[in-house]
Amino acid sequence: VPDGVREMLASRIHDVPDYPKPGVMFKDITPLLADPEAFSALTDVLADICAAYGATKVVGLEARGFILAAPAAVRAGVGFVPVRKAGKLPGATLSQAYDLEYGSAEIEVHAEDLTGSDRVLVIDDVLATGGTAEASLRLIRRAGAEIAGVAMLLELGFLGGRKRLESALDGAPMESL
Ligand code: AMP
Repeated sequence: VPDGVREMLASRIHDVPDYPKPGVMFKDITPLLADPEAFSALTDVLADICAAYGATKVVGLEARGFILAAPAAVRAGVGFVPVRKAGKLPGATLSQAYDLEYGSAEIEVHAEDLTGSDRVLVIDDVLATGGTAEASLRLIRRAGAEIAGVAMLLELGFLGGRKRLESALDGAPMESL
């Protein structure tokens, strides 16, 4: 991340206490998105990571991951693939369930959007427990593609997401800006 860019990005992410429930410090990235200079600088950084990792596809995780991943994919000159919550994709899908603090969730991808020759960079806004990202890595591998790496705007280190991702990454890099 170029000098000054990290500070600029950080200054445009707002901490919202007790949202969406008491005890959670929500990281609101909408001020960053609304600032064309910051959004463009972030897009450049993500596109550079995409190129450095030799990725052939960028996967964005619903929903804020879509906003960051799509322009990065366009700028890097590679395709964009959405990983969605279950029940939103019309075609033939692969699904992956994962545990939440209470209950479970399921994500899906269109099987035909990824091939055995793809190297995939996964992008999302926040790495929290790592459950969503971990499930996405397993899903992408099951679709036959290789993991190039993971890039997150923010990482909430105290939640241990990096540790949870370790086995699914299987040596691939995970970067948070
Ligand atoms: P997790 O699966 O626990 O790593 O949660 C990651 C997902 O939840 C990401 O898609 C984030 O967008 C969202 N998320 C989790 N915690 C926060 C937070 N404190 N602020 C903003 N988004 C969050």
